[in-house]
Amino acid sequence: MALVTRRGFAGFWPAAVIGGEFALARAARGAGEPMVAIDSNENPDGPPEIALKVMRESLALGGRYHGEATEDLETELGRALGLKPGEVLAGAGSSEILHAAIDVFTSATRPVVVSNPTYEACPELARALGRPSEKVPLTPTYAADVEKMAAVARVKKAGLVYLCNPNNPTGSATPQDRIKWLSENLPADCVLLVDEAYLDFSPQLGSAVGLIKAGRNVVVARTFSKIWGMAGLRVGYGCARTEYINKMAPFRDMVVNMASARGALAAVKNSGTILPQRRAKMTKLRGDVCAWLHGKGFDYIEPYGNFVMIKIKKPVRPVIQAFASKGVAVGRPFPPYEDMLRVTIGTEHEMDRFRAAFTQVFS
Ligand code: PLP
Repeated sequence: MALVTRRGFAGFWPAAVIGGEFALARAARGAGEPMVAIDSNENPDGPPEIALKVMRESLALGGRYHGEATEDLETELGRALGLKPGEVLAGAGSSEILHAAIDVFTSATRPVVVSNPTYEACPELARALGRPSEKVPLTPTYAADVEKMAAVARVKKAGLVYLCNPNNPTGSATPQDRIKWLSENLPADCVLLVDEAYLDFSPQLGSAVGLIKAGRNVVVARTFSKIWGMAGLRVGYGCARTEYINKMAPFRDMVVNMASARGALAAVKNSGTILPQRRAKMTKLRGDVCAWLHGKGFDYIEPYGNFVMIKIKKPVRPVIQAFASKGVAVGRPFPPYEDMLRVTIGTEHEMDRFRAAFTQVFS
């Protein structure tokens, strides 16, 4: 499997964005003002202290291969989720799990069905491999249209249906009973891939992991890149019945490096304290931004992740550029929502800078 990075995707970040806003943002940074990076749904808090400590200690053991560390992580994640041994697969970010799922479950004649808009990795990799994808618009409440997805999966003989909950870029949620319905109404040879990259920010939505325990054809992808603040350390995982895990495992080629696996393991063992703190902090900042936007007369999609999709009621591309010129990197355009702006929740200071830039851009 070829490594297709987000920045490497043809069309993922349009040339205008790379040559325009980013150049401007870099120029702003060069002028001494650090750029506010609220464009990629990262967590500015970075890795938990305990993970940093364990990773530092682990570096000295780097002469040894990573197999045992990866297995320890898979075992602990499986235990925490109540899954059986062999039902968790660690990957270099959840990207590696999404890639493996595309590799295994789609083909030139078995498309992937996705919402539109949603996270682009699956359809982009499918395209790179010459495999078709079918796009189904979100419902008016920005949930996945599960009935339409099931119908398209049947007609087009799809091998995979990808559903992101909460969805990126909208931040919206699909109710768990709708996801369950979808898992029960797909053709028997079609797999449902549920991407829960942002679920830890809104655990009240419930997880699709329960569907795996119920024996459904479901793969759940998760990541340490978001609430755990470990995006650059590349740790994610997939959960599924052993049959699917065994099919996907050979398609991983990066796997997790030993230090990151050990750091993630230390973090997970302390999730009871770390996750509620991080969730509460982000939720407070996100609430403040939403209330502020509301006061300014701007609407937004009800957010469930660490980002907000703002209805700016005008073309987003020049607005992205205007923010960049003020040293604030906001989300890229997400067609077909050309009049919406995605903003990641950063630090309090970063959100102050965002509000200041917003006031100028929309004055
Ligand atoms: N899934 C979703 C919905 C995302 O937004 C992202 C990254 O932004 C990923 C997966 C990939 O993340 P990673 O490979 O870092 O786990």
